[in-house]
Amino acid sequence: MTVPPPLGPSTVLGYPRIGPRRELKRALEAYWDGRSTRPDLLATGQALRAASWQRLAALGLPALPSGTFSFYDHVLDTAQLVGAVPDRYRAAGADPLDTYFAMARGTDRLAPLRMTKWFDTNYHYLVPEIGESTQFRLAGDQPVAEVREARALGLATRPVLLGPVTFLLLAQPAPGSPSGFTPLDRLPDLLAVYGQLLAALAAEGVDWVQLDEPALVADRTGPELAAVRTAYRELGELPQRPRLCVATYFGELGPALPVLAGTPVEAVGLDLVRGRAAASRPELDRLRDKVLVAGVVSGRDVWRTDLDGALALLRELRPRVRELVVAGSCPLLHVPYDLARETELDPALRSRLAFAEQKVAELVTLADRLAHPAPAPAPVDMSAPTPVHPPAAGNGRSPYPVRAAAQAARLRLPPLPVTTIGSFPQTGELRAARAALQAGQLDQAGYEARVESEIELVVRLQERLGLDVLVHGEPERNDMVQYFAEHLAGFATTRHGWVQSYGSRCTRPPILHGDVHRPAPITVRWSRYAQSLTRKPVKGMLTGPVTIVAWSFVRPDLPLREVVGQVAEAVREEVADLEAAGISVIQVDEPALRELLPLRGDQQPAYLAWAVDAYRRATSGASDRTQIHTHLCYSDADQIVAAIDGLDADVTTVESARSGARLLAEPAVAGFPRGLGPGVYDIHSPRVPDAAEVGELLAAALRVLPRDRVWVNPDCGLKTRSYAQVEAALGNLVTAARHARAQPASPAH
Ligand code: GLN
Ligand code: ZN
Repeated sequence: MTVPPPLGPSTVLGYPRIGPRRELKRALEAYWDGRSTRPDLLATGQALRAASWQRLAALGLPALPSGTFSFYDHVLDTAQLVGAVPDRYRAAGADPLDTYFAMARGTDRLAPLRMTKWFDTNYHYLVPEIGESTQFRLAGDQPVAEVREARALGLATRPVLLGPVTFLLLAQPAPGSPSGFTPLDRLPDLLAVYGQLLAALAAEGVDWVQLDEPALVADRTGPELAAVRTAYRELGELPQRPRLCVATYFGELGPALPVLAGTPVEAVGLDLVRGRAAASRPELDRLRDKVLVAGVVSGRDVWRTDLDGALALLRELRPRVRELVVAGSCPLLHVPYDLARETELDPALRSRLAFAEQKVAELVTLADRLAHPAPAPAPVDMSAPTPVHPPAAGNGRSPYPVRAAAQAARLRLPPLPVTTIGSFPQTGELRAARAALQAGQLDQAGYEARVESEIELVVRLQERLGLDVLVHGEPERNDMVQYFAEHLAGFATTRHGWVQSYGSRCTRPPILHGDVHRPAPITVRWSRYAQSLTRKPVKGMLTGPVTIVAWSFVRPDLPLREVVGQVAEAVREEVADLEAAGISVIQVDEPALRELLPLRGDQQPAYLAWAVDAYRRATSGASDRTQIHTHLCYSDADQIVAAIDGLDADVTTVESARSGARLLAEPAVAGFPRGLGPGVYDIHSPRVPDAAEVGELLAAALRVLPRDRVWVNPDCGLKTRSYAQVEAALGNLVTAARHARAQPASPAH
């Protein structure tokens, strides 16, 4: 027997929600700009949900989830649903939707909730604030309302909720919480609300509810595992409830598996792509009385599934559990909608790809073949077309003091040099010029002239303001990864392959499908032009190998470290060409260094070792006289300070202002042995800090770092700001730096 809908025999744990043509993005932006009304926005949401369900049903998927749509973020939805709205936002709007957007985006007076990455994906969620006095209550009925919406279309759905344990583990203590308090302390109160919600869903006639607990695939302490046990025993023992499926994903469940197995939940979902090893462990037999939701079709990449391999695995698992459901390895939120629209892709590559719709078709096929054995179709060729590069040469650079002296002699920078992170505002005219080039309305020469005039403007502005190390402003780049992907062999880019990053923001991750190499220099032309305009050094600006790979869909047949190694080789060649063109400072950005960090602690050191190695391979060909910068954009760098040190860059710029310079309290920061630029301007905010405020942040840096190592820079690139803001803020950076230079050095240093 197979599990009937709405759980099986095949299902997806979640689906993209931005709309196949980014309808949600447009609807949100129209609403925020006051071009549409709340009813318009709500109607778009409802239409998108209906279209998704109907499409999934048309593709033959028997079991449909509901509750996977969101106007901004599902973690924020959950916070609001359970009443966890910090008091300061309550006055922000009469309607709950306004409160919701105030938490997501801030208002004139209020900063938004903190946003951070969802596990090791490139999706970002809003971090709930939970305190001792957070009043949990069931504050909405969206899960029930969506069940009704689907039913009106003749469809039964399985509501999906963020599980209570993951919700609390992702939250942060509300400001002012006593030390020692953790949001998980509030589990009993939160469970009461989940209990109420489950009862309401049962009363609505709902058969199954899916509770997502991806946090269980990371390392969890004994008390955290005990919380899992408590949560699912308690919810399992509710007198009136639907059957429960706890979905785990993004890795292997590990010690949480026996814990879940010991609770009354009826089904457990496992990621059998990333957590493939679980299938061969004896612990799996603990699930023998449960339904196993077997995630065998990857929700994290765009490659076709090896159906025969997946089928063999499913057949092997079936006798070991009560029943089996064929599922995606995780929600399909992280893949684009439909490959069919990518008509410009190379057919050979296309035949190896699957986006969300194609993955759904795979799930349906797998369940069908599992139920009715049939002759296997021809296998898909998943091998890569060309061989792998040999490894590169090692580190040719001298120790830092030798390099620092050579660079000081060449660059002759003042103390506390002022620089920026690379990008300057991307104006509407620039985007229009790029679109015109694409559409064939502007020729290449016309476009390049447009970019050059922008570079000239940026260089003149920086000279006028008195910055010390200039940038060209990156006007030629649509995106710091896509631009390089477009110029490297081994990558393909899509036309419509949008994936949600946060809220209305989407990216089109490039597809890294073959061996990577650099057919020709990429950035040299622009850097050389910028340098020709000024006697001050202009930084060459490259994206690092880890970041390029982290923000792409990576070929499945090679270990990640080898793929990153190939990209590092290409970056190394670009560094050499920039040097040859007379560029004296080269920045290699690695904002995604921490993103690929494995969720399990025991795998982290090996990752950091090869990631650092790749960075050094990219940069170690530079001469001692070339100053290598790197940029990382998160302040909680503590976990990887050792790795940042290992990068061995001459100067490291990091986000700091945004988090109130907490970074400077890290012991490893005070002892940082090379140049460091803790950001003194929070570029995420339209606010322009005055020179006094910048000066205070600078003084804070000078209290913990030697004066000859400190750089003065914004937190990150200026791409999203306006020229008016940038001009004023950078002017204040220069003023503050000049003022600090005039102060006598403190005796401590
Ligand atoms: N050089 C890039 C820029 O300034 C860095 C962006 C980033 O760190 N995300 O835009
Ligand atoms: Zn940054």
